[in-house]
Amino acid sequence: MQESLLPPDENERKEVQSEPARVMSVLVPYPVDKAYDYKVPEGLVVQAGDYVIVPLGSREIPAVVWGASANEVPSKKLKSIIHKYDFPAMPSVQRKFLDWVADYTMSAKGFVMKMSLSVPGALEPPVPVTAYQKGENLPDLIRKGLSPQRQKVLEVLDSGVAYRAADLAREAGCSSAVVKGLADKGLIQTTEIHSPAPCRAPDPHRDGPELSEDQDLAAGTMKELLDSGEFHTALLDGVTGAGKTETYFEAVAHALKNDKQVLIMLPEIALSNVFLERFKTRFGCAPALWHSHLSPAQRKNTWRGVASGDTRVVIGARSALFLPYADLGLIIVDEEHESAYKQEEGVIYHARDMAVVRASMGKFPIILVSATPSLETIHNAWNGRYHHLHLKARFGGARLPEIHLIDMREDKPERQHFISPTLKQVTQDALDAGGQVLYFLNRRGYAPLTLCRTCGHRMACPRCTAWLVEHKSGGNLQCHHCGFAQRQPKQCPDCGDEHSFAACGPGVERIHEEAQALFPDKNIMILASDTAESNDELKAMLQKIHDGEVDIIVGTQIIAKGHHFPNLTLVGVIDADLGLAGGDLRAAERTYQLLHQVSGRAGRAEKKGQVYLQSFMPDHRIMQAMAAGARDEFLEAESWEREQAHMPPYSRLAGIIVSGREESQVIEVAKQLGRTSPQGATDAGLSIQTLGPAPAPFTRLRGRYRYRLLVNADKPVNLQKILKDWVGGFKIPSTVRVQIDIDPQSFL
Ligand code: ADP
Ligand code: ZN
Repeated sequence: MQESLLPPDENERKEVQSEPARVMSVLVPYPVDKAYDYKVPEGLVVQAGDYVIVPLGSREIPAVVWGASANEVPSKKLKSIIHKYDFPAMPSVQRKFLDWVADYTMSAKGFVMKMSLSVPGALEPPVPVTAYQKGENLPDLIRKGLSPQRQKVLEVLDSGVAYRAADLAREAGCSSAVVKGLADKGLIQTTEIHSPAPCRAPDPHRDGPELSEDQDLAAGTMKELLDSGEFHTALLDGVTGAGKTETYFEAVAHALKNDKQVLIMLPEIALSNVFLERFKTRFGCAPALWHSHLSPAQRKNTWRGVASGDTRVVIGARSALFLPYADLGLIIVDEEHESAYKQEEGVIYHARDMAVVRASMGKFPIILVSATPSLETIHNAWNGRYHHLHLKARFGGARLPEIHLIDMREDKPERQHFISPTLKQVTQDALDAGGQVLYFLNRRGYAPLTLCRTCGHRMACPRCTAWLVEHKSGGNLQCHHCGFAQRQPKQCPDCGDEHSFAACGPGVERIHEEAQALFPDKNIMILASDTAESNDELKAMLQKIHDGEVDIIVGTQIIAKGHHFPNLTLVGVIDADLGLAGGDLRAAERTYQLLHQVSGRAGRAEKKGQVYLQSFMPDHRIMQAMAAGARDEFLEAESWEREQAHMPPYSRLAGIIVSGREESQVIEVAKQLGRTSPQGATDAGLSIQTLGPAPAPFTRLRGRYRYRLLVNADKPVNLQKILKDWVGGFKIPSTVRVQIDIDPQSFL
């Protein structure tokens, strides 16, 4: 991210004209670069930010008034605004933010705005829905005679709130049939409500936990930042289990007391169950959620609540940043180092970086939270641009786990096995002592490669540059990139030999099989994104682990983060080297972060945790840094290497991805771009280099051929302008796509 590109502190545009303007410029949520002029019909007063309906082609669509007209088109030729919604206007800071994101990411303005206007029908007033409320004067005697489930429903309704059947059933932990049964008997009453779910306000005045000295200090600083009424970025940096969440909840409470809305960003939905419960405990009610798995009604409700200001706290994935908050006053970015904050499709943006921009425009603080901050963030903390808040130890005296390296060259498993004798032994010890064990392997399925022993043929995806992964549970071979799946063939498609396939390498299913053979009387569970069908199922699986019904968990990264299993005392990382293959810019950093996170699952309560890393390169600086607990030394060394290589955060990068179904066409466009690519020095004497074109590591993905170029420039270079002059000047055939990825995270 380019700090110098942060918007200057300009005076807000004048929004309300003294005379109502007769022509206004309106932005439609389509891939268009600018707002179009529309006439304002007689009798209608509109101002910038108003939500309206305008004609576009043969359709009538919702859109946002973007500002005064540029008067480019004679007003006779203009169409008129059809309707103005009676709804609070999109705040000017939000529109400014969307403009900025469009410029920075080089995306069409209307396309970026669509991320804010993301709920079809949100502007239409909600339709009343049937809800249930407390009946009148139900005699205690009758009440006591009801089934416990029915009594629970009545208890929930005692608050006086009316609920829809589904919400009420959820609150009471029963089925909707129980609710309907009570209504049929006249024991509760039906009514109509407008909001699909009751949205009570989180209460910031409830007592939080007593904070440790470190926590108190950090929370105090955050409150000061909030009271300053200015933009600040702080890094809340503390080991796993330090109590970072409890600490930033203090800041959330403070912002709520100051009547501000709060956004808490999380990288993965898997976190939200655990997280929601914690939030409820602290603030007495659930926050609004925002992620891709919500129902349309939930989305609409949250969108309207956020825009009207009724909803005070949103917990969401990256897209939550684009909601049109009425009065946002604090953003928390938890696990700020996570690559899931980068959106790689459509508008390509990094939500953490854009969140910093959003805070700067809104003149309020943003807190980045991590036990393993990204190099970009720690760099800014070290050079004083960010406040650096430390939580040094685990909360309540829980100790950090001990980390051991297993040298797989010496400590060999049997052939075709993956659990070393040492790991087997310490697993036995941990289980004997009554602890739980986590085997971590970040690979779904049984085996990542299927090979014909006769001819060496490898089973590959027909649409991607990728091997098919065997899944025994599904009885098939799957591509993890495009979703392609096929039955395991009986014969090799190349040489026709039967029963000649060999599974190469492990996935979690194979580790499960091996662990079950080693510990036949233990309960072993696989936890991966594809083993839990639904959020509820995942919840149930996590509950089983909590309740001690599982002895060994074999898990992918879904288990690595955020979870707190008090009885988990041993973590065995099956292949600590996995993330280092391929070796892109951030491979080392990411591997370190992941190993650190997964290690953090061990020994979170009284019992001390042990972590064993199986590695073929135990001398690698990552393994050494892990074993020594030398995070900052690792980051310093990594930072030094980046500086030597003139790489971010010491330079700026942009990826250019050329793709299409015809390989020759893709190569042709990529070559043409390469011929005129920026090279050498800019007018101001700054350096800029372009590498490529070269076939992308995934040369084929979902049937498209892909070639890449990479631009590397000195930090002060205005990269967007140079890219615009260069790529923008090309006539690109409609069958080829050229995507620009500013600050790329992925090089695949
Ligand atoms: P982190 O987010 O830094 O990994 P958490 O916030 O999850 O750490 O805290 C770890 C554990 O310690 C949690 O169970 C949490 O409830 C508990 N904890 C943290 N701070 C406090 C506190 N001040 N009082 C009581 N319990 C706390
Ligand atoms: Zn594929």
